[in-house]
Amino acid sequence: MLKFEESARIIASESRYVAGGVNSNFRLGMGHGPLVFTHGEGAYLYDVDGNKIIDYYCGMGAMVLGHSPAGVQAAVKQQVEKGILFAGQSPVEYEAARIICERIPSAERLRFGSSGSEVAQAAMRLTRAATGRRTIVKFEGHYHGWFDNILWSTAPSLADAGPAEDPNLVQGSKGQSMADAEGLDVLQWNDLAAVEARLSRGDVAAVLMEAAMCNQGAISPMPGYLEGVQAACRKYGTILIFDEVITGFRLGQKGAQGRFNVTPDLSIFAKAIANGFPVAAIVGRADLMDMFATGGVLHGGTFNSQPVPMAAMVATQQALTPEHYERTSVYGTRLREGIKSIFAETGIKAQVTGYELMFHIGFGLDAPARNYRDLAHADKAGYARFAGALLRQGVRVLERGAWFVSSEHNDDVVDKTLEAVRVAAREVAPT
Ligand code: PMP
Repeated sequence: MLKFEESARIIASESRYVAGGVNSNFRLGMGHGPLVFTHGEGAYLYDVDGNKIIDYYCGMGAMVLGHSPAGVQAAVKQQVEKGILFAGQSPVEYEAARIICERIPSAERLRFGSSGSEVAQAAMRLTRAATGRRTIVKFEGHYHGWFDNILWSTAPSLADAGPAEDPNLVQGSKGQSMADAEGLDVLQWNDLAAVEARLSRGDVAAVLMEAAMCNQGAISPMPGYLEGVQAACRKYGTILIFDEVITGFRLGQKGAQGRFNVTPDLSIFAKAIANGFPVAAIVGRADLMDMFATGGVLHGGTFNSQPVPMAAMVATQQALTPEHYERTSVYGTRLREGIKSIFAETGIKAQVTGYELMFHIGFGLDAPARNYRDLAHADKAGYARFAGALLRQGVRVLERGAWFVSSEHNDDVVDKTLEAVRVAAREVAPT
C-alpha cells in the first residue's frame, strides 16, 4: 500500500506561497490530496514519497507518447541551444504547420497558440466576425476552457440544469455573471432536432462541440448526429467548430474528424499535439483563417509558435504514425477488456465506454451514457473510492472516470495495472 505523506506535507507547507498548493484548480480535490512528482518516464511517474506510479492522467491527455520520450527530449534540447523566442518567424513553425495541414482534414490553414482555452476564444471571435452574428451554441458537459464567456454548463448538476429541451446556462465559477453568457446558448448534446430548431432562427454564428464528448464521460456521437449538425450548419449559414483538444491525436492521427469522417469548418487542438509542451492550434477553412491576416480579426500571443514547443511538436508528430496508433491501440483495448472482465467477476456494475487510447468508467450505470444527463446518474462517490484504492496500489486515474493511455502502456504495464484493478475492485465491490 503506497503512502503519500511527503506530498501532503509539501502541499500543506507550500500553500503558504501557492494558492492551495496547486497551479490549476483541476489538480485540487482528489480524495488523496494533490501529489508532488519528481520525474516521469514512460508510463510511470515518481513522487516525493519514493513511489513509482503507473500514470493514466497522462498530463490530462497530453502525453500520448508517455513521459520523457527520447525523440522529443532531444529535439527540445537542440532547439534550446538555438534560441528561445524571436518575436518573429522560424523555420520550425512552418514545418510544424505543414505537418498539421497535411494530417488534419479540416486544416487548410492554421494559427498556433499556447493553450486550448485561448484558441477556443480565437475561434469564437473569428466566427462572430465572419458571420456578423453573435450567438455561439455549446453543449452541456462540453468544456472549452476556463474563460468567463464559455465556462458555462460544463458540469451542471441535474438540480440546476433545467429541462433537457431548453437547458439553463449554469455558471462554472463564482465571479461570472449572466452578462458573461450574453451571446451563448446551451443545448443537450446528441439531440439533432434541438440543433436544427435552434439554428433555424438564423442568428447562430457557430456551433462549438467536442465531436466525441470526452471531458465528461467518453461518449460517441449517435450515428448521423455529426453529419446532421453539419448539414444544419450549412443550411443556416452557421460555422461548425470541433474542439479536438482531447480527441486530437488520441482518437487517431486525423483526430475525431478523421475517425468519424466529418470535416468541420474550424477546429482547435492542444494537449497531445506536442506531447505536453504548450502548443495549441486553430485550424480550418482558408477563407475563414485568412480573416486573421487580412480581415481585421485580431489574434495575438507573445508565446505563439515559440520555437522550443514547436520543435517538440514536430518530434511528437513524427512519432505519431499510423503504426503508432495500431500498436498502442492493442494495449488500450486489452486494458479496457481486462477491466470489464474484472468488474464482471467482482460484481461491479459499470459502463466502460470510449476509444482505444481514451476511455471512461461510469460506476452504477445500466447503459452507456448518451449525454451529460445520463452520466449524472453515475455513482461518482463509488468511483472515487475505487480511484483511491487504485492509487494505493500504484495506479493513478482521474476521479472523474477518464483513463488516458500512451504508447508506453505496454503489455507489462497493462498486466501490472490489471493486478491493481483486481485488488481495488475487490476492495470496493458490493459484499
Ligand atoms: N477544450 C477541451 C475539450 C479540453 O479538454 C480542454 C482542457 N481540458 C480545453 C479545451 C482547454 O484547454 P487548456 O487547458 O489547454 O486551456
